[in-house]
Amino acid sequence: MQPTSANTPAQSPPEKPGRWMLPGLGLFQGLAVTGRNMVQSFYNKERMTTVQYPEERAPISPNFRNFPFLVYDGNSIDNLRCVACSICEKECPPQCIYIVLERDENGKSLKRPKIFDIDVSVCMNCGICAEVCPFDAIYMDGEYELATDDRFEGLLFHRERLAKSADYHMKLRPEQASEVIARRKAEEEKKAAAAAAKAAKAKADAESKKAAADARPADEKGGDA
Ligand code: SF4
Ligand code: SF4
Repeated sequence: MQPTSANTPAQSPPEKPGRWMLPGLGLFQGLAVTGRNMVQSFYNKERMTTVQYPEERAPISPNFRNFPFLVYDGNSIDNLRCVACSICEKECPPQCIYIVLERDENGKSLKRPKIFDIDVSVCMNCGICAEVCPFDAIYMDGEYELATDDRFEGLLFHRERLAKSADYHMKLRPEQASEVIARRKAEEEKKAAAAAAKAAKAKADAESKKAAADARPADEKGGDA
């Protein structure tokens, strides 16, 4: 029986004949690239695809990220930018951040962490902590030589281990650090200008009150007395 149009499956159009290629040509092309690299690597360092690790280290990609670190300004860990707001602790998906706020003897917040721990054996390098921090206090590091035979304390990074200077941040990610420094400077200048304007207004108010008091008639002043 002849097939009808109703019971014939849809036919795909016949393929156009492609360019004929010698079987195995791709393999020889790949070998040619490898051979060229091997020969040129003897006199052109850019052709080297490996380095003599650990004496040499290949530069890491600017976008490479590993575990987070805390940033401090100046030369002292006492200048950590972190104010222990705990936003990163709450947002961390595997909950590997532990923060305790430092307080004075009266229980008042000192706006800095007494304890800031990250369990890097649990951290999944997602970078969410760095994204949510409103104080430019935590960023993703590029350090990768972290092998240890102590799988508990050796992989629990405390505040002192996590703290790195703003200069380190600048060397690691110059573009990001420059943008952060410029923004923080602009914010500080804005705050200083607002504080100066407030102080000037308070001074002007005090002077106008004093002038008004001086202008009142003497008998009125005597009445007040
Ligand atoms: S990188 Fe991700 S998993 Fe690691 S501490 Fe930050 S939020 Fe948590
Ligand atoms: S690192 Fe940032 S988000 Fe986390 S506690 Fe410190 S200030 Fe808050």
